Amino acid sequence: MTSNARAPNALPRRLRHFIDGEFVDAEASFANVSPVDGRELSRVAEADAVAVDAAIQAARRAQQGPWRRMRAPERADWLQRIADGIEARFDDFVAAEVADTGRPIAQARSLDVTRGIANFRTFADLVRTAPGEFFETSTPDGDMLNYVTRKPLGVVGVISPWNLPLLLFTWKVAPALAMGNCVVAKPSEETPTSATLLAEVMRDIGLPPGVFNLIHGHGANAAGEWLTKHPGVDAITFTGESKTGSAIMKAVADGVKNVSFELGGKNAAVVFADADFDAAVDGVLRSSFTNAGQVCLCSERVYVERPLFERFVAALKARTEALRVGSPYEAGTTTGPLISQGHRNKVLGYFRLAVEEGATVVTGGGVPRFGNACDDGAFVEPTIWTDLPDDARCVTEEIFGPVCHIAPFDDEDEVVRRVNDSAYGLAASVWTTSLSRAHRVAPQIETGIVWVNAWFVRDLRTPFGGAKQSGFGREGGRHSMDFYSELTTVCVKVA
Ligand code: NAD
Repeated sequence: MTSNARAPNALPRRLRHFIDGEFVDAEASFANVSPVDGRELSRVAEADAVAVDAAIQAARRAQQGPWRRMRAPERADWLQRIADGIEARFDDFVAAEVADTGRPIAQARSLDVTRGIANFRTFADLVRTAPGEFFETSTPDGDMLNYVTRKPLGVVGVISPWNLPLLLFTWKVAPALAMGNCVVAKPSEETPTSATLLAEVMRDIGLPPGVFNLIHGHGANAAGEWLTKHPGVDAITFTGESKTGSAIMKAVADGVKNVSFELGGKNAAVVFADADFDAAVDGVLRSSFTNAGQVCLCSERVYVERPLFERFVAALKARTEALRVGSPYEAGTTTGPLISQGHRNKVLGYFRLAVEEGATVVTGGGVPRFGNACDDGAFVEPTIWTDLPDDARCVTEEIFGPVCHIAPFDDEDEVVRRVNDSAYGLAASVWTTSLSRAHRVAPQIETGIVWVNAWFVRDLRTPFGGAKQSGFGREGGRHSMDFYSELTTVCVKVA
């Protein structure tokens, strides 16, 4: 053990739903399996349609109660109490994230749990300080005062993925509650533990029953799908794969429900010859391999200006080979496993496909061997390819593993065109020391966010989301407030 995060056996062995302020078990259950060594961590209740309905009915009842009418500062106090509750059990949340995902303990501490807390505190501050909108208008009918009121949408269904479990779950639960909605949330079946701890926090602080409900289960033809189709749900906020987003869009069409989608990506990093070389290598290393490449913002396409190409490939290779892949419970580990054997099979399929498509494997491309229990885990080697054509499937499809393809480019217009030639549009990073180039290139890139000489830095007040198949709508700051509330304009004749 490298830190005071608890070993997995200190975590709950039975994970239950949380409905109407109570933990509720189910007859059916599934195994929550460690990606580090394949052992069963816990059994998880599998929601049937009755449990999903019970959670939604509880949320509807709570929605008609005091939560809806509560003033924003009071709701903000509740959010701060939730944040305090997570903070008080910080190490339990770290242990849950590490156990479910196998990520390095330092990352769970500095990113996942810290951001989980920040999500609640940020939206508490935002609703407390949100400005109103007022307009005075003189018309032939008289003088008018217009102002805008915000009402909650009602019951919001939250569906989240496994790659940053607590961070992405709370990124949606926090603003939904802040705006006065009640929530029925389904975490990924791969990572159910931190959401269960969050429900314990909600119970322990005495959040009114039904305001936050948690259901566990799978997606298609299971809890996720039933949540999207239920007429008692007013809006769905979803993070996950683009093809799941498409299925959910069809499911909500009949109910004409509001949706917010944060979907997949095939993000590019662009390194110009005038970049700070070491900073660019370091940035691309992090943007390609953080969390074993399982961050929606990771760069799987790297474009390097030709004069720098060979040197850059050699430097990134050396840094990649110095990564320590292994158990998060061992000192010095930088890179954990993929989330599951199923996902590993998908990534290894791309490793084979890259070779068939003509890639040069600069490093990696296989499965590491440990000679211990990690051999039953879902590890792959951090991998770099070169020499693939732009239309290769490995250059166009999201892989979601520790892998990047590096290609040379010759001029600015060319690289902008190649970066934009993608079905996705989530994020990009540009590495250059030229101020004018940075400001010229960044706005031309068709993504929701462009970093210049940085990666994965987020001010939670800024809009976040994707263009093209990477998403629908924006969340963050007032954009979240807009999504999670219904606006009514009141127009009063004053004279
Ligand atoms: P996924 O789409 O397989 O699953 C996400 C969630 O949706 C899970 O809770 C799952 O149970 C549920 N689900 C699956 N099918 C469903 C259906 N038919 N109806 C309702 N719910 C359903 O995604 P994943 O594999 O968990 O996550 C990885 C994906 O998420 C990657 O594509 C990644 O890029 C994307 N992602 C995007 C962002 C972003 O901000 N844009 C952030 C993180 C992850």
